[in-house]
Amino acid sequence: MASLSLQHINKTYPNGFEAVKDFNLEIEDKEFIIFVGPSGCGKSTTLRMIAGLEEITSGTLKIGDRVVNDVEPKDRDIAMVFQNYALYPHMTVYDNMAFGLKLRKVPKDQIDKMVKEAAKILDLEKLLDRKPKALSGGQRQRVAMGRAIVRDPKVFLMDEPLSNLDAKLRVQMRIEISKLHQRLGATIIYVTHDQTEAMTLGTRIVVMKDGVVQQVDSPQNLYNNP
Ligand code: ADP
Ligand code: ADP
Repeated sequence: MASLSLQHINKTYPNGFEAVKDFNLEIEDKEFIIFVGPSGCGKSTTLRMIAGLEEITSGTLKIGDRVVNDVEPKDRDIAMVFQNYALYPHMTVYDNMAFGLKLRKVPKDQIDKMVKEAAKILDLEKLLDRKPKALSGGQRQRVAMGRAIVRDPKVFLMDEPLSNLDAKLRVQMRIEISKLHQRLGATIIYVTHDQTEAMTLGTRIVVMKDGVVQQVDSPQNLYNNP
């Protein structure tokens, strides 16, 4: 079944700028889709429309078989991980991960179970009482992912999640993301500038330029026959 369907999606910003033009893509369950393309080509705009953080000017967006154009972000079955992983500095790791669930009025005992399960998957069990400032960059990034996975969403959106990490940590986190994808069986859409990340993580790569999809292909086909 298609996990996500983008049909003739357009985005024109209020100043008249057309950031995304006739974007069409059917994403199957458990795919790992990579968006690549030069800065300003519309990758983040597309992710933000999927997340519901940016209004869709025209076209149809479906998650599963539900049209979600007018559905609020919190009611879409989606979680987003940003590159600057804005954690709440005054909250513990536990509370950072629990926050979104509390907003959704999930019962406390269930929150506790979900947070601890996510902490186990991400190896954060011993860090639950810490504040973000007492964590390394990689640990913070894992908390940011933890915040996303506690909700067990159908689709994860990741906008250059590793770009602020040093090279060594990036390699390590790339492996963790790959494992996470397999373990969760979730659909992921991932924006990156890093060709190694695109090749090793992606099941399909979407190449964008000036708001237009240029090519959609497997990493093998794309990088062997450019
Ligand atoms: P990418 O993620 O590929 O770098 P973006 O989706 O962030 O690109 O931006 C696509 C284009 O839309 C850019 O030219 C950017 O300047 C423009 N843009 C982004 N946000 C706005 C906005 N709020 N108003 C007008 N133009 C915008
Ligand atoms: P609130 O943040 O709403 O004040 P509490 O601090 O009372 O909530 O915690 C609610 C539940 O969450 C507790 O019963 C506990 O099981 C769990 N919890 C809170 N912090 C931690 C933590 N650091 N490690 C493990 N479990 C925690």
